[in-house]
Amino acid sequence: MLKKFLKEVITIVVGKNAEEIVELLYTKKHVNEFIISKKLDLTINQTRNILYKISDHGLVSSIRKKDKRKGWYTYFWKIEVLKSLEFLRNDLMKKIEQLENQVRSRETKRFYVCDTCHIEITEENALSNNFTCNECGSIFVFKDNTKVLKEMKRALEKLKSDLELVNSEIGTESKKVEEGKMKVIKKEEKEKKKVRETKRLERKVAKDKLKKTDKKTKTSVKKSKTAVKKNKMKSKSKPAKKLKGKTSKGKSKTKGKK
Ligand SMILES: [Zn+2]
Repeated sequence: MLKKFLKEVITIVVGKNAEEIVELLYTKKHVNEFIISKKLDLTINQTRNILYKISDHGLVSSIRKKDKRKGWYTYFWKIEVLKSLEFLRNDLMKKIEQLENQVRSRETKRFYVCDTCHIEITEENALSNNFTCNECGSIFVFKDNTKVLKEMKRALEKLKSDLELVNSEIGTESKKVEEGKMKVIKKEEKEKKKVRETKRLERKVAKDKLKKTDKKTKTSVKKSKTAVKKNKMKSKSKPAKKLKGKTSKGKSKTKGKK
């Protein structure tokens, strides 16, 4: 259903003959424009013209990569599904509104027709022309709108059910986009946390080093004992610190481990 809608979008924007481009543009990663042109059996300029037309409506996105050897840029494209669906929704809503106006007009106004020229005219205009056709001089006849109205209403129902389906696709796609964003945010958070943790460890290592050099200068055992106590109070889960300061042997041990 989604692909059918995307093809409808391309038909509106470019034309029916370009709809197959959806098969190539509906991907996760951007696609090389030369591959698109080859698969569509079009020249690169024809392909680009189609892509630019779609791009004018913001329904595709592109990235470019420079060919280091040749020095030119190659573009990579993919269809923007949510934007395309929203475009289709707007198009459907416009069509529905137009058709509803026409239905209302058929239901409230009377129409006349020239059977020879097949010209249709409102009763108001027919009256001002004395019910005579300007083109051929035939007399206008009253037009029965029943059949036309029935057709219009059927078309209206179809448009409305399409709109419902498009809206449901928009819901699904929005959810996907939202989930993608959350994934990126979570990944960034994780990275930030990692950086914070690394910095914290770095600070801790620097602090420990400072303490060690500090302790070396201290001759009194008593003093270093109180320092150990202080460390203990700060954190209970640092057994390595117990070793420090007790004896000079212990110090060299922990140093050696690192
Ligand atoms: Zn006529």
